[in-house]
Amino acid sequence: MSTYSGTITRFSRGDTTFHTFTAPEAGFRVNTHIVETATELTVIDAQLLLPLAEEVANLLREIGKPVARIIISHNHPDHYSGLQVLSAAFPAAEIHALQSVRDYMAEWAQPTLDARRAAFGDVIAARAVQPTHTLQVGETTFSDLRLSVQEVVDTEADATAVITFPDHRVVAPTDMAAAPGHHLFLVHGDKHNAENWIAFLEALGARTDVDMVLTGHGENTDPKAAARSGIDWLRFAAKAHADAGTAAEYAELVKAQHPHHRDPIWADFGSQMLYGLINP
Ligand SMILES: [Zn+2]
Repeated sequence: MSTYSGTITRFSRGDTTFHTFTAPEAGFRVNTHIVETATELTVIDAQLLLPLAEEVANLLREIGKPVARIIISHNHPDHYSGLQVLSAAFPAAEIHALQSVRDYMAEWAQPTLDARRAAFGDVIAARAVQPTHTLQVGETTFSDLRLSVQEVVDTEADATAVITFPDHRVVAPTDMAAAPGHHLFLVHGDKHNAENWIAFLEALGARTDVDMVLTGHGENTDPKAAARSGIDWLRFAAKAHADAGTAAEYAELVKAQHPHHRDPIWADFGSQMLYGLINP
């Protein structure tokens, strides 16, 4: 048995088990989800810090089925840096992302990792690993796993793959949803991003075909809780962004209003992105 600094939770639906590896706070509580069917493993997202990606690799070896594919949900480095470890550990695994995410990563993944490495050190990947396959929008079946992919643009990221597992009543909106008390990253300053994101969460909260939400950071949740807390947070964050002139003022407003949000350092880091001081 390996030991883990991350937290591992799991639940089963029929003969499919959904495992979630949640990084500790120092790893921004990034989630890697592992969908274990009867025959193989599908991984969603790859961690920011390489030592945590190593823990994910150990967990995948412990589960012990072939790693068929890794899906990168969106183009932020906390979700693809760890590909350097996972692609080396599981060279047969395909790497899937939306075409728009592939296009962005082809240009920006390496310079973004270089900047993060300058800030955080060699726990960040030195080498950007690019997706090998395009994740198609619509219905897809990977051997014994059915999924439905929606592309949502201009919210937390430029484009996010929202993956529904219709046979399991599970949806993975990753960074567009969080459990109450966890911090969502509003990192794009355009006001339409918050509006689009609120519209997405309203629709998520109304869905009756799913009852489990796989989040991008921290604990998983359910659609109604994700919608309620996410919309409240985004309305506040958009107003704080309109009111605050600097990243530091914004971060102070966030901390004053949301002392219950976990990991207060995130307000500082997120504000740096929202105010264009660093790239998401
Ligand atoms: Zn993220």
